[in-house]
Amino acid sequence: MTHPPFGTFFLPGPTEVRGAVLAAMAQPMMPHRGAQFEALFIRLQDGLRHVFRTTRPVYVSTSSATGLMEAAIRCAPAGPILSLVNGAFSERFAAIARGCGRDTRVLGAPLGTVHDLGDVAAALAANRHVAMTVVHSETSTGALADIAALAALAHRYGTAILVDSVTGIAGAPVETDAWQLDFVLTGSQKALALPPGLAFGVVSENYLEQAHTALARGMYFDIVEFEEYAQRNQTPNTPALPLLYAADVQLAAIRDEGIEARWARHTAMAQSTWEWTDRCRANGIDIDILAPIGARSPTVSAITVPPGATGGQVVKRVAEQGFVIGGGYGALKDRTFRIGHMGDHTVAGLAGCLVACENALHVGR
Ligand SMILES: *Cc1c(COP(=O)(O)O)cnc(C)c1O
Repeated sequence: MTHPPFGTFFLPGPTEVRGAVLAAMAQPMMPHRGAQFEALFIRLQDGLRHVFRTTRPVYVSTSSATGLMEAAIRCAPAGPILSLVNGAFSERFAAIARGCGRDTRVLGAPLGTVHDLGDVAAALAANRHVAMTVVHSETSTGALADIAALAALAHRYGTAILVDSVTGIAGAPVETDAWQLDFVLTGSQKALALPPGLAFGVVSENYLEQAHTALARGMYFDIVEFEEYAQRNQTPNTPALPLLYAADVQLAAIRDEGIEARWARHTAMAQSTWEWTDRCRANGIDIDILAPIGARSPTVSAITVPPGATGGQVVKRVAEQGFVIGGGYGALKDRTFRIGHMGDHTVAGLAGCLVACENALHVGR
């Protein structure tokens, strides 16, 4: 089987998957109970612990990332949940909490921004919350939250922190253990540059302990089950084996690169995107990064379009030049387009995509 050359697909998820990783999926099945599988699981754990910076087991869920968002909520002890909402995915976290019948209090922040720590402290102080949900890198706006600071704040009020780091993990620094995150999760199809279909998550010992008291954990997304099986180097149910084969190859490559080098490569790609928008503006193309300096994601940029243009037009003109980028998401559909500078892309590869974006923005001016 042949694959197109790498480096043209800059969607903010799913991201482009290298040919060697795709090819790894075409291997024979194995029993998912037994020594061969357990050896695979142990290799995956080594790679995932390196990525998550943890000594805890990393749960492997055959689901998209939303599944583990639901696990985080379902396994929360009884009591109100505070949801920090500043975009479509953080709103999804709040919607899951409501959907699971939880008393959910929302603290909003304008699209493109992140929450003021003083506002969060005030909300935590005003009521007792068992958990606080937050999105690390809000993929709909490109805003990056300060998870270390939010975790410290939440813990000061005895509140667990549940982190959707779907476009953070493997692209932006995440220190699961050092920041004492109670639940942190990602999906396979973002900065890990794997095909969609798997989610990975880590739970603190404290949160796991409290989960035993949660009465409606269900079964498929019960972290008590995940933990028991992970201790035996297994998954609770039949996993998507071909995706695990792909992860085996990709996690070895990430380990070879080194997680810190991977973070630095993402920072460099984001930086070159920000510099490109500045150059465009200097040349009379009225675009900008939506998120303010200091709160910008290294993995995804939402870029505001010039007056009179729409995000959809830009996406279409970029596609005509052979590159795939993302349109605006949700309420920002027309006002922005998005570039996913994450996964296995490079600064040099991204440059071609930015040229295509600039050409697209020149058309009809
Ligand atoms: C993509 C994404 C999700 C949802 O992931 P699925 O794998 O589609 O369930 C959740 N949160 C963020 C921040 C995302 O970028």
